[in-house]
Amino acid sequence: MADDSFLLPGTDEYSTDFWAGFADDKLLLQTCSSCGSARYPTRPMCPDCRSLDYHWQEASGRATIWSFVVAHPPVLPAYAEFAPYNVVVVELEDFPGIRMVGNLVAAADAPINSVDPHGISIGEPVEIVFSPVSEDLTFPRWRRSSP
Ligand SMILES: [Zn+2]
Repeated sequence: MADDSFLLPGTDEYSTDFWAGFADDKLLLQTCSSCGSARYPTRPMCPDCRSLDYHWQEASGRATIWSFVVAHPPVLPAYAEFAPYNVVVVELEDFPGIRMVGNLVAAADAPINSVDPHGISIGEPVEIVFSPVSEDLTFPRWRRSSP
């Protein structure tokens, strides 16, 4: 679905590995090598202990819906054909407090409006899917899972 009119993330030296992980079907979290806190979004310094050291830790990709909105027109032109569509905030099961924004979809290759937004509930269990959106960019998205 990607073309130049879709919103795509910028990357820097701290987020390159985060985005590269999705192409390998992995959710990698920047993790403080000093205190063990996960850093999301990626950043140079640990917000808990101010360490600059970090490593990458793979998360399970299991999460629950923490919040969501349903986007209706007017939206950016590239998204108009998909509206109404959902935007969810999920909290990672194995990293409580780490919340990611994405879309709840029926499958990795399904469009962002593939789930009826009226049936979405806060607290629903979800799991990550990896949706290629261009030749060199894969988005994390979410699909329903069993509890
Ligand atoms: Zn730390």
